Amino acid sequence: MQDTMEKTTASSGFASKQSRCDAKCPAQAFVLVKFLTGELLFCGHHFDKYEAAILKDSYEVIDERHRINEKSESSA
Ligand SMILES: [Zn+2]
Repeated sequence: MQDTMEKTTASSGFASKQSRCDAKCPAQAFVLVKFLTGELLFCGHHFDKYEAAILKDSYEVIDERHRINEKSESSA
């Protein structure tokens, strides 16, 4: 009974409405960056801002910024 938070770690499904940028901003996160020490989520703006440092230290970047313009999941 230790589950306080439901973890949603489906591959490439992180960019949900619940995902928030870890740069202390309220924007929805669209880039998942994996570091050896853990993972961070960034919105498009902050990923751009920190891209050089991120790419230097990360071993994997999952970029879902193409989904930024998706207004609705149900619209084709
Ligand atoms: Zn941000």
